[in-house]
Amino acid sequence: MNDCLFCRIIRGEIPSKKIYEDEHTFAFEDINPQAPTHALIIPKEHIGGLKEATAEQAEIVGRCHLTAANIARQRGIEEGYRTVLNVGPGAGQSVFHLHVHLLGGRSLHWPPG
Ligand code: 5GP
Ligand code: ZN
Repeated sequence: MNDCLFCRIIRGEIPSKKIYEDEHTFAFEDINPQAPTHALIIPKEHIGGLKEATAEQAEIVGRCHLTAANIARQRGIEEGYRTVLNVGPGAGQSVFHLHVHLLGGRSLHWPPG
């Protein structure tokens, strides 16, 4: 999508600290990290968010999570990390291109805020 922030990051029109890229997914450092590791993993295909995802997009949603797991393995944070999708403004979603947050490298409490 032309005016989508994360589509623009994928296209390189807005700089980001890229962590990983493959045919389907793109991962980069969150600009405002909430933990020592705070990566965002996004599908290259524009999907507004989890509630907009269709059954045909099930595979790419899964691929984003597996990319998160691979980054966690590479970062050595497998003792405990969290993947999060904020869905809707009431849950804090501020960018409407589906993204998985990967948070780790510190102790994480439950329930989250
Ligand atoms: P949300 O609030 O939608 O779940 O998550 C959006 C995330 O994107 C936030 O954690 C925010 O810090 C991050 N973010 C917003 N704008 C940018 C940007 O331009 N670059 C990067 N790297 N992260 C961004
Ligand atoms: Zn987008």
